[in-house]
Amino acid sequence: MSRFFAERYRDLAPYVPGEQPRDRRYIKLNTNESPYPPAPSVAQAVKRAAESLNLYCDPTCTALRQALGELLDLEPENLIMTNGSDEVLAYIFLAYGQRPFLFPEHTYGFYRVFCDLYGVEYSRVPLREDFSIDVEPYMDSRYNVIFANPNAPTGRDLPLSDIERLLNASPDRLVIVDEAYVDFGGSSALGLMGKYPNLIVVRTFSKSRSLAGGRLGFACAQKELIADLEAIRYSQNPYNVSALTQSAGLATLREEVYYRACAEKIKHSRSVMTSGLEALGFTVVPSKANFVFARAPGLSGRALYEGLRARGVLVRHFEKAGIEDYVRITVGTPEETLALLAECGKVLEEGK
Ligand SMILES: *Cc1c(COP(=O)(O)O)cnc(C)c1O
Repeated sequence: MSRFFAERYRDLAPYVPGEQPRDRRYIKLNTNESPYPPAPSVAQAVKRAAESLNLYCDPTCTALRQALGELLDLEPENLIMTNGSDEVLAYIFLAYGQRPFLFPEHTYGFYRVFCDLYGVEYSRVPLREDFSIDVEPYMDSRYNVIFANPNAPTGRDLPLSDIERLLNASPDRLVIVDEAYVDFGGSSALGLMGKYPNLIVVRTFSKSRSLAGGRLGFACAQKELIADLEAIRYSQNPYNVSALTQSAGLATLREEVYYRACAEKIKHSRSVMTSGLEALGFTVVPSKANFVFARAPGLSGRALYEGLRARGVLVRHFEKAGIEDYVRITVGTPEETLALLAECGKVLEEGK
């Protein structure tokens, strides 16, 4: 750290992304990417768009918001497009950080990072023993609420009735639902948007739309909220979604059938992975996401992570009190799933 670094950032503990090693080929089950490539038409669209890279991209993302609006039955004014959903999450903490935030003790790590970065007050609420969210402690309307649903890294789904309770607790605080994993079997709060002016739903193309490297995310809310977020966006980075990404996003939206089929394959592999791990004696948290959160019998989370890594399989381990015995394993292809199960079996054997 240099002596020029602003005082207020000296204690910053930045977000730590999952590793993207290049040293050898791994079966990569550590960052919840899709194992399936984008539909072929996406690469073609990007190639066409590349011919006009001398021009700035459309700062309004109009075509993309129109197409997305048609798909989700929303007006373009209900949508803001961003450089990954991480960016719109940043805008949300910037825009609404005057009121402190509540979020689960174990959830997406970036919420805490943004609060620290932007000086937003927050408090973390423990999960239940089974890793589900108990909404009772969130009813305190002095706080905005944010969580992922399905939650990460647990994969557990919160029922919509609980989300409505949070929304009804007070119209003066916001409830932000991060639906990064909703396409793998979760229940979406999108249908509540018309009824609740204090709801923001955040989504991404990174997981179920095979576009993690393209960086495309968005938020849905009533028009006034979107106008706030647009004011922040135009004050920070009006050309936030590149021309290549806008064209990739548009092409993606024309391939619904393909991406739904990918999600179905992943759901099937998830159930194969879950029962395979259980057969090996693992404890597996029921998941509605494209990953499972699991604990090996008689082996620490770190030991399992390291054992798998040595065998060429990457999973994610969090060195965090309460979840340190668990690893988060992304659901891959059927072949990757079988390989994972075989390697887990070998690591358990070695550990004996
Ligand atoms: C992956 C993920 C994101 C971020 O996705 P990007 O759109 O790639 O920035 C946001 N929230 C949760 C819960 C995630 O798991």
